Amino acid sequence: MDIILLGPPGAGKGTQAALLEDKYGMVQLSTGDMLRAAVKAGTEVGLKAKALMEAGELVPDEVVSGIIGEKLDDLGPEQGVIFDGYPRTAAQAVSLDEILAARGRKLDHVIELVVDEDALVERITGRFTCGNCGEGYHDTFKKPAKDNVCDVCGASDFKRRPDDNEETVRTRMSEYRAKTQPILPIYEERGIVTKVDGMGSMDEVSKAIAAALAT
Ligand code: ADP
Ligand code: ADP
Ligand code: ZN
Repeated sequence: MDIILLGPPGAGKGTQAALLEDKYGMVQLSTGDMLRAAVKAGTEVGLKAKALMEAGELVPDEVVSGIIGEKLDDLGPEQGVIFDGYPRTAAQAVSLDEILAARGRKLDHVIELVVDEDALVERITGRFTCGNCGEGYHDTFKKPAKDNVCDVCGASDFKRRPDDNEETVRTRMSEYRAKTQPILPIYEERGIVTKVDGMGSMDEVSKAIAAALAT
């Protein structure tokens, strides 16, 4: 099963992708994570992406579609995939169809996480992750059980993203509204979109997604 998690920054895509990995053995493909790794490694892709990401603007379509194709080639044909943060433009949606078709794959579901915009700023500005294992946390909604110690791996090396500030979040939201939301009709026409209320607890959202995938 291949699915897309679609939603604005802070909607809970990464959180839900991690839960789907645990529950179904699917693999999360996050273009944001891949781009951050490229920036850190100082690759050609990273050099192209860095300033745009810091400003909250989208990285060119051919750059992200290229890395998605490469990642898929590392996976077996039976391995289910969660696309997190991709596609984000109409051109990327077209590329994804081609990328999947070329590998004998197809999209089964698109889950749209519907969230209240005011909540997003709070979610984004409170977000941090474990620098060692990548587990996601939140200052208010998901604190580590023990202060400053990762629940999963015990490390004490937490990170905040440089683009998780209020100003950049506003730009990212307008990019979402202008370029990403308009691709939904492509998938609605195929009858594969389920709208899920992203304002519930992480567990409630996870259950609603599981129900959608079972249909
Ligand atoms: P996205 O990948 O869509 O940008 P994340 O999954 O990283 O979003 O979530 C953004 C922040 O909000 C994280 O700190 C996460 O812990 C928190 N979060 C995710 N889902 C929920 C939820 N249902 N309720 C409250 N906080 C949430
Ligand atoms: P969020 O979890 O907040 O939705 P991401 O981690 O998915 O954010 O993306 C962070 C940044 O990386 C984006 O603001 C954008 O600059 C870049 N990016 C990630 N995915 C894409 C994509 N599919 N197309 C273009 N730019 C992307
Ligand atoms: Zn950890």
